[in-house]
Amino acid sequence: MLRTHRCSELRLKNKGENVVLSGWVKKTRDLGGMTFIDLRDRYGITQLVFDMDQDENLCTKARKLGREYVIQVKGEVRERSNKNPNIPTGDIEISAKELSVLNESKTPPFTIEDETDGGEELRMKYRYLDLRRNINQRNIKLRHQLALEIRKYLSTNDFLEIETPYLIKSTPEGARDFVVPSRLHPGEFYALPQSPQTFKQLLMISGYDRYFQVVRCFRDEDFRADRQPEFTQIDCEMSFVERQDIFNIFEGMCKHIFKEIKNIDLPEVRLMSWDNALKYYGTDKPDIRFGMEFVELNDIAQNKGFKVFDSVELVVGINAKGCAGYSRKQLDKLTDFVKRPQIGAKGLVYVKYNDDGSFKSSVDKFFTRDDLKKWAERFNAKPGDLMLLLAGDKMHVRKQLSELRLEMGDQLNLRKRDEFAPLWIVDFPLLEWDEENERYHAMHHPFTAAHHEDTRLLEIEPEKARANAYDFVINGVEVGGGSIRIHDHDTQQKMFNALGFTKEEAEKQFGFLLKAFEYGAPPHGGIAFGFDRLVALFGGTDSIRDYIAFPKNNAGRDIMIDSPATITEMQLNELSLKVH
Ligand code: ASP
Repeated sequence: MLRTHRCSELRLKNKGENVVLSGWVKKTRDLGGMTFIDLRDRYGITQLVFDMDQDENLCTKARKLGREYVIQVKGEVRERSNKNPNIPTGDIEISAKELSVLNESKTPPFTIEDETDGGEELRMKYRYLDLRRNINQRNIKLRHQLALEIRKYLSTNDFLEIETPYLIKSTPEGARDFVVPSRLHPGEFYALPQSPQTFKQLLMISGYDRYFQVVRCFRDEDFRADRQPEFTQIDCEMSFVERQDIFNIFEGMCKHIFKEIKNIDLPEVRLMSWDNALKYYGTDKPDIRFGMEFVELNDIAQNKGFKVFDSVELVVGINAKGCAGYSRKQLDKLTDFVKRPQIGAKGLVYVKYNDDGSFKSSVDKFFTRDDLKKWAERFNAKPGDLMLLLAGDKMHVRKQLSELRLEMGDQLNLRKRDEFAPLWIVDFPLLEWDEENERYHAMHHPFTAAHHEDTRLLEIEPEKARANAYDFVINGVEVGGGSIRIHDHDTQQKMFNALGFTKEEAEKQFGFLLKAFEYGAPPHGGIAFGFDRLVALFGGTDSIRDYIAFPKNNAGRDIMIDSPATITEMQLNELSLKVH
């Protein structure tokens, strides 16, 4: 037997037992006649003791062990004289009687500790060693538990997990496809799914009225921080449902996982229109753990001689409660923050509503006390508050102020890690205009239905139609999104028209779906959750990479296996890809 116990298991009650443990050498300490070793496995750490006086050879052998050697030890459980209250096995140690080296190890390129000395790049290259660290083991376990609870909840609610193919043909989800050349069909290509969208809809037509899948999706997008070219969705679809049915089931799912995994009762899920999300938070994924909603001031701040305000589409601000005491330096820092190229504001206007009721602002030259008083009323500001304003065109200024709002939320500690504020964002526009290509794009995807009363707009004013789509947002993170789908041939055809597809193009790309709609397609709708993001939200850190066993770096590379990589001339030939 290679082990009788795991490294987390033994306690005082096991005192006197002879046990066998196996694991990795975490640390060796030589103290005079004694050598102590921390032995580690996935479950924990147990201290081993080798005593010169008892067995000189054995002790000498132990002293030669390097970090991360894999060893097996037989010995007796003893009470420690020097107890360690920080680990569950801290009351005992193993007095070693036999030691075998199961495998040696080179000195690892970084320390396998919570506070490691290894940089990101090095840890990615040796990801299998990085994965030995506690924090990563915790994250990978969390991922497993979350998937398990989701599977349990959905299965209990009659959902079937059904696999859909990975070698398919392109589905438009707004990104580029990864393609796979076909050897047997020269010049032809499979595409890897950006999502199983069309397949899950076909399953509804097949009558599997509750489907889900924990599924890998592939999108060939430009690199951005924290994007992975392959990522995992909890993909779901239901038949005979309206929006509210979807909300009920998936609010239930989220409540279930928060309760089971965090023992948190998730608060009521709020509903917010896309328009209002942009108007009051400047983003379609607002963090509503705190208020600080946007206040628009055009009618009272324009035409007072301040050119910066007069020439713009929108003057808008937030009230940072209790911040009137901010120093010059703090205000300059905020100004620098909004002027950073990533944010791109031209400047920041501030108004301090001092404790004595007076105002001090960066625009005192242009506005009277009465003007500023009116602003304060609009902001619902009280003495002691600080109003921060930006001006510009709607789209940009809202985005900029949204960043500032989050920054102030952080500075004022209003974004509490253990608080979760979920909401549905609804009523997205169905289409958005693509300036560059001079055509409409589906904002969600082309299978999304318009609101019932807006369907007729598809043919006349498609830009005015609202989508029956919804995003699920928690703490400023879009964790899921979906829609009620079009389920009849003619409406789907009209949608493709509105998107600028000719009948032939639509037929070539989606003929299979259009045809299927002619064979009894039930009303249906669904949603997909970004599983990696959901795990990150539960884990309490921002980077999804921390929760993926073998992630790619920011440039989409796996630097451990060195991929992407070139292939041989012979492979290129076989795939008819040879560049002549
Ligand atoms: N397929 C969609 C996506 O990947 C989700 C959905 O509409 O169910 O975003």
